[in-house]
Amino acid sequence: MDSEISQAAESVGNEIIAVSNFLFSHPELGDHEVEGSAYLVKLLVKSGFRVCYPYQGLPTAFRAEYGNPSGTKATFLAEYDALPGYGPKKLPAHACGHNWIAASAVGAALILSRMKELSGGCVVVIGTPAEETAGRKIDLLKAGAFDDIDVVFQMHLAETTSLDTTALAIDPWMFEFFGKASHAAAFPFKGINALDAVNLTFAGIGALRQQLRPDVRIHGIVSDGGETPNIIPSRAVCKFYVRAADRGYLDEVSLKVKNCAKGASLMTGARVKISRFENSFDDLRINSELRELMKESLIRCGIDDFSTGTHITGSTDIGNVSRCVPTFYGNIGVGDGTAGTHEEAFLKFVNSEEAHDKLLKVAKAFALSVREIFRNPERLNKVRTEFEKAEKRQ
Ligand SMILES: [Zn+2]
Ligand SMILES: [Zn+2]
Repeated sequence: MDSEISQAAESVGNEIIAVSNFLFSHPELGDHEVEGSAYLVKLLVKSGFRVCYPYQGLPTAFRAEYGNPSGTKATFLAEYDALPGYGPKKLPAHACGHNWIAASAVGAALILSRMKELSGGCVVVIGTPAEETAGRKIDLLKAGAFDDIDVVFQMHLAETTSLDTTALAIDPWMFEFFGKASHAAAFPFKGINALDAVNLTFAGIGALRQQLRPDVRIHGIVSDGGETPNIIPSRAVCKFYVRAADRGYLDEVSLKVKNCAKGASLMTGARVKISRFENSFDDLRINSELRELMKESLIRCGIDDFSTGTHITGSTDIGNVSRCVPTFYGNIGVGDGTAGTHEEAFLKFVNSEEAHDKLLKVAKAFALSVREIFRNPERLNKVRTEFEKAEKRQ
């Protein structure tokens, strides 16, 4: 292990662990990460970073920079939103381990800020709110937050360690049906049943499943099913997440799913309004040059338990980032395999001694990789060449 990085990590180790502890004990939902973002910003300002907060009109987003503003920009993405509904009181909690993500991102940046010199490079941390819901990386991308960024790094906790992480493209569809209320016993024939349209949408999608590729995932809920059984529902709403391994095929599947809702509308006479209730995400584009660089760094920092085979984790807004900037995204395994992300039982793993140990190792590995990119322009050229080739294949 490199002694300069080790010493720097030692000097900021307590602060890195403190980030994970603070966020874990102050879980806040997406777009409401007020205390969490303020904590991270305060720490970065204290450490000499130039900070913009709030950032791009998002109250809990921020951007922090250290080093040469016109140099190569290596960026760590911090997420810090929690999930709802844990414990007897159904409170927010970090069952996805975003406390750890923020700590590893900010931690790596702090380590690099303690280096004697950064070879003309610039370390950037972007605080990206609401990964679990709205996906604010998409809004930040649209606002140009990534236009000047050269490479992006992020890792996520999971059941196993994997550098072959994939993420499905996702479309969030809301189908809102408008019918006509009537007395359900006396005059049902005067009504138009919006809930029937919801049920028929589910039935249509159920029949569609067999004709779709195995990587497709379609899962829905009824978020409004009427008021009471003795009134024919005049309004009913269902929401679906539709996912596939690539954006091209997802576009085809989304069209078919929307046709199910349109068919249900035609069958019942209930008007349908179709909209996206959150941002759509693209699938993750892997940059194998960045992945190899991170693999070397992780091994040097003591992490080498890489599982083989493709590891699907769901969907994430970093997918869209990976289409615009060369991106490394991987998983770090914690726990004993008895629970996975989003499960209540996973909470005991995300801020454990094991999580802290791996947190410091990953922060060091990020720092090693970025220092290599700053010192060795040939390495960055290879990353860019691969990215541009993938871009042409699209
Ligand atoms: Zn999650
Ligand atoms: Zn997550």
